[in-house]
Amino acid sequence: MTRVDLIAGVRPNFVKVASLCAALRATQGNAAHWTRRLVHTGQHYDHSMSGLFFEHLGLPEPDINLGAGSGTQAEQTAAIMVGYENAILAAPPDVCVVVGDVTSTMACTIVARKMGIPVAHVEGGMRSYDWTMPEEINRVVTDSIANWFFTTTRTAGENLRRAGIEDDCIFFVGNTMVDTLLAQMPSLHPPDCWETLGLVPGRYFVATLHRPANVDGERQLVGLLQEISRHTGGLPVVFPVHPRTAAMLKKTKRQMPHLQYVEPLGYRQFNYLVRHAMGVITDSGGVTEEATVMGVPCLTLRDNTERPETVTIGTNELIGTNPANLGPALARVLSGQWKKGGIPELWDGRAGERIVAELERLLS
Ligand code: UDP
Repeated sequence: MTRVDLIAGVRPNFVKVASLCAALRATQGNAAHWTRRLVHTGQHYDHSMSGLFFEHLGLPEPDINLGAGSGTQAEQTAAIMVGYENAILAAPPDVCVVVGDVTSTMACTIVARKMGIPVAHVEGGMRSYDWTMPEEINRVVTDSIANWFFTTTRTAGENLRRAGIEDDCIFFVGNTMVDTLLAQMPSLHPPDCWETLGLVPGRYFVATLHRPANVDGERQLVGLLQEISRHTGGLPVVFPVHPRTAAMLKKTKRQMPHLQYVEPLGYRQFNYLVRHAMGVITDSGGVTEEATVMGVPCLTLRDNTERPETVTIGTNELIGTNPANLGPALARVLSGQWKKGGIPELWDGRAGERIVAELERLLS
């Protein structure tokens, strides 16, 4: 019996871990036997950012909730480390699997490695080379001590090799976020606001913003919202508001024409909206991958990305953080001149399956 800890703390983690849970479930009855412990660190705890995802994605109840809650980077890191250390002391796993690039990813990696537990990093090797992003620090720390790396693209593997990671620890497997999207595609359905806002396929935009660089400063956030409102051809822009953004929006108290603020949406409703949108305006990483798979024009309000294939192959383009860049880019979407895009290699819905098969081999 192999004991595996799956670590998840925030919304995009739940999407990735759903693929791993499904792949582990699929091995039941085979020669390999897994005991899976789902560890929720509690970084996201609102129903709309956490509980809803467990319902929609068919995730099992977490076996442990560390209840880290909100706080500064150091407070969260410390709470997760203490909580996870206790969980390992109570019942050590054979492997700790971390996903993505959040505080939970880094904190649990440090704890597990110091306690002699091997760590596998799903989405290893991604780099934005932007040191102002806490996520970049999480990525580099995690990748400098993890044992095995499951990558979404060949570029991520090259980044790891450049950092001195041995070839036989790197496994190019594809994208667990895409696994979940493809599995959920038949279950996507319109949100309540579809009716109330009178949305029509291809005749509205979706926007999401949550990066500190875009939402923590009033001037920047208002500047972006104004330009979005002005340059989307009078079409509705559905804006599910991330909790971080909500705080600043409350302060600005600005209503803009055509912008429709809604609560963060459940996974199935959100991706239904993206699938049928004329375009997506975002600073999320995961959304750029989903828009790429669904072939929807995606404008990223960042200067860099750790997911370059969404730009070189997919429908994503880096617009930068200057609000003035939005007008010309949106004009290309409205006039149907946006690139079409393709699907990156191995983004085929089977990454979770490949990861589990590789772990079986590594741990046997
Ligand atoms: N998402 C969602 N509802 C929303 C906004 C996003 O279900 O209202 C999903 C989205 O489909 C993707 C994930 O949340 O799977 C992305 O999370 P987020 O943008 O918070 O994180 P990032 O990908 O930037 O790390």
